[in-house]
Amino acid sequence: MSAAPLPHRPAAPLTDVLRRPLRSLRISVTDRCNMRCRYCMPEQEYAWLPRDSILSFEEIDRLAGIFARLGVDKVRLTGGEPLLRHQLPKLVTLLRRHRGIREIALTTNGILLARQAKELREAGLSRVTVSLDTLRPDRMLEFARTGRHRDVLEGIAAARGEGLAPVKLNVVVVRGYNDDELIDLVEFARAHQAEVRFIEYMDVGGATEWSMNRVVTRQEILKRLEQVYGVITPVNEGAWAPAEQFSFRDGTVIGIIASTTEPFCRTCDRSRLTADGTWLLCLYGENGLDLRQALREGSADDEIARRIEDTWRQRTDRGAELRVASPERGALYQLESLRADPHREMHTRGG
Ligand code: SAM
Repeated sequence: MSAAPLPHRPAAPLTDVLRRPLRSLRISVTDRCNMRCRYCMPEQEYAWLPRDSILSFEEIDRLAGIFARLGVDKVRLTGGEPLLRHQLPKLVTLLRRHRGIREIALTTNGILLARQAKELREAGLSRVTVSLDTLRPDRMLEFARTGRHRDVLEGIAAARGEGLAPVKLNVVVVRGYNDDELIDLVEFARAHQAEVRFIEYMDVGGATEWSMNRVVTRQEILKRLEQVYGVITPVNEGAWAPAEQFSFRDGTVIGIIASTTEPFCRTCDRSRLTADGTWLLCLYGENGLDLRQALREGSADDEIARRIEDTWRQRTDRGAELRVASPERGALYQLESLRADPHREMHTRGG
């Protein structure tokens, strides 16, 4: 007897063992990147995902539809650098058709954003987050091996001009690299009506040079900002957001993502789909569910939905919290293990 088809939306949210709903899906559309940030891609050579394993837009769209039926209402396109994927606006148009998906956001390094912002907005993109670690082009060249700082700034301006607002600016704070720019970045964000989000340097795959003494903690970031802006007050944002928001006396709002020292696993409703269709339940998770195989061997939507549902119901991951508890914390992976399985790389998982 075949099982009854699943309804269009679940009557009650699909939750895991720790009662966390399946809600936010990060879709990596490529593992390729046009930057080489040292906290993510410090090496010269990489083991890339085979080209024929990369999901087509139709395959991504089909999976997104299944996830939407199971409760996903927010999708973020990421990578690698998502704007390297040819004709990305076409994917946005496809994803927009799913009734349950309320928001489609994009995380990008901004290099190719100026020329695509209009088309992305017209396709239905809701918001953009641009990674901007430094305001100094020479630093970017040295740290991220690209001289295209001006293109990033133009990308931010174009996104704002298209109303892809509020533009968020992701800053990974690394001691000795950009931690002397916290105030400059706040001021830049204020001048461009953007919201800056300081991210603690994480010991994820790819961060082979990570060490705790290069992490500038949430506490230290707040202390340094308070010295300049006075009392900073927490803002009660939605409990499921990764960034905690804080406001200055003049109303300026900033975010801090403290995944390294004060992780938020208990409220994590995020999962990740890699460009080759591996579904990961945690940024630190070792293994994922191979949805590409299910798609390509002809499984029906209901069958794939049931596999996703069963997997989420059994989810217990608390990767970042376990890392905090780990006594001799260092880089999560060394080069050999990243080469052995590129799915461990942050640029494959999508940040
Ligand atoms: N290429 C796009 C970009 O630059 O935004 C999207 C992919 S990137 C992997 C997504 C986010 O992950 C970026 O904001 C990046 O700064 C962040 N990230 C990568 N490695 C990180 C690390 N070791 N610690 C904290 N954040 C990291």
